[in-house]
Amino acid sequence: MAARVVTVTAPTPTLLERLYLPEVFKGLARTFRHLAKNLANMKGLPTIQYPEMRRKYSERFRGRHILKTREDGTLACVACYMCETACPADCIKIEAGEHPVLAYEKYPTVFEIDMLRCVFCGYCVDACPKDAIWMTKDYELAFFDRRSAVLGIPELTEKPSDTGPDGPGYGYRPYEGESPMRKAGQFEPSGLPLLPALAERGLAINRMPPPPPPKPAAPPAAKAP
Ligand code: SF4
Ligand code: SF4
Repeated sequence: MAARVVTVTAPTPTLLERLYLPEVFKGLARTFRHLAKNLANMKGLPTIQYPEMRRKYSERFRGRHILKTREDGTLACVACYMCETACPADCIKIEAGEHPVLAYEKYPTVFEIDMLRCVFCGYCVDACPKDAIWMTKDYELAFFDRRSAVLGIPELTEKPSDTGPDGPGYGYRPYEGESPMRKAGQFEPSGLPLLPALAERGLAINRMPPPPPPKPAAPPAAKAP
């Protein structure tokens, strides 16, 4: 069968069409319609007038880190290297020193986080056995050079400006989103049916008294004359 040939003649555009003027005016009309609508409803706009206005971020927001302190002002970190080991971006550097207070044993003489390498995964927070490293909602991390992106102990130590009313506030932190039982360090049933013996073990763990204080060291034996 012979192929059927269809000849299509394109319509000749008018001068106005060749200048795209109708489309230009249609576009301008739409823009001015939106402008007038938005001017009449400034408060309802989804636009955030940063930096005067800030978006409210989730309590799990992973921003700049902070190092928590004890009541005596010393760093809660015991330089165990768990966060450095868990960090997938290899951006934490710790050097340990012997703490003058014997009970604390170790403390970080150097604790640095390279914020340009950090991927804000929060693994360091999860890995810390002392709940010493938390994250804030601070996302304003702009630096003029690479060196100033490496935050050390002075920058990382928690300050009132981090968590005060005008600060970014706490973000991702230990036990975030977990139940009050887990937050209190108690055994939490997973929700799956447990063997009775295991359930009893969980209850027993919750009933366990706190460990006794360490015994004082015995005085050294007197040497024989
Ligand atoms: S948030 Fe993740 S990438 Fe950043 S320092 Fe912690 S473990 Fe490393
Ligand atoms: S895991 Fe916690 S205690 Fe250990 S080095 Fe990191 S911040 Fe310090």
